[in-house]
Amino acid sequence: MLQTALSQQPVAAPAPEHRPLISYVLPVYNEQDGIAAFHTELTAALAGRPELDFEMVYVNDGSADGSLAILRTLAERDVRVRIVDFARNFGHQIAITAGLDVARGDAVIVMDTDLQDPPRVSLELVDAWREGAEIVHARRRSRQDTAFKRTTAHLYYRVLRSSTEVDIPLDTGDFRLLDRRVADELRKYREKSRFVRGIVASMGYRQTEVAFDRDERFAGETKYPLRKMAKLAIDGVTSFSTVPLKMITRLGFAVLTLSMVGILYALAMKFFRPDITVSGWTMLMVVVLFLGGVQMLSLGVIGTYIGRIYSEAQGRPLYLVREVIGGSRADD
Ligand code: UDP
Ligand code: MG
Repeated sequence: MLQTALSQQPVAAPAPEHRPLISYVLPVYNEQDGIAAFHTELTAALAGRPELDFEMVYVNDGSADGSLAILRTLAERDVRVRIVDFARNFGHQIAITAGLDVARGDAVIVMDTDLQDPPRVSLELVDAWREGAEIVHARRRSRQDTAFKRTTAHLYYRVLRSSTEVDIPLDTGDFRLLDRRVADELRKYREKSRFVRGIVASMGYRQTEVAFDRDERFAGETKYPLRKMAKLAIDGVTSFSTVPLKMITRLGFAVLTLSMVGILYALAMKFFRPDITVSGWTMLMVVVLFLGGVQMLSLGVIGTYIGRIYSEAQGRPLYLVREVIGGSRADD
């Protein structure tokens, strides 16, 4: 049949067009109430781009609810869906990393599965990529989070920018597109306490931004309570900067200068006003407690860096997978 088709058409058949494959890396942690709606909205958006192929890599980050069962149904109905099921909760940043390890697309898009990152915006990222960008950050023009989260995030990104050398674009989360080349290079970064958005920004390549309005969470609550947010914030700074360590030295100098004043004062009192030297209890307490606090704080900062060295030295695997569901595993 092919031959007859060819003989009827003497002109050389055009080379089969390479259809770009776009991978979605989708971390899921206890999203049972929103995940099906997310998938529906994503597939609806993708249906508008028949010229592209898509795959969705859902990383189930040890969800304790029915998320996995829902993902399984999605995988049964849609061959483009693959699931990486973690053995336990390893955290958002590790889930993204696992997704990137598995994704096969010519471009990879990382996005939240709570509909805060709108699926239609991901197609704008694809357009920017097709125009030549190798990394496309989705920048939050506005967001619907609580005032507290907005303010802390706003401040944090600015502190990060001033304390690190990498130019992390302001107000970007992990919603971004990476070209295959960038994704391959990113996979070589295996540090444990990772801040993916910082690593990507530090990589170079042709980077660009697409602005979008961040929606409210479709269902459920944020999986980033204050504790996790603080950890991510500390990982961000300590991954890229030793400024906190240098600040200890500066603090030491400041305290030393201050203690000189105290020492001179104490000596002067001893020699010129011996009658009141015993009444220095308040001063003593202030000095002891202040120095104690400064030292604890400094030890904490040093400890944070030592903790990072410790976990790197252990060399444990970044994550453990129970099962990869759906898709062909032949080339993995
Ligand atoms: N997430 C995850 N593991 C976690 C915490 C969160 O995979 O330990 C996922 C979560 O399901 C969501 C994304 O990471 O798809 C971002 O989390 P969330 O929406 O709670 O963060 P926020 O948007 O509030 O910063
Ligand atoms: Mg969210």
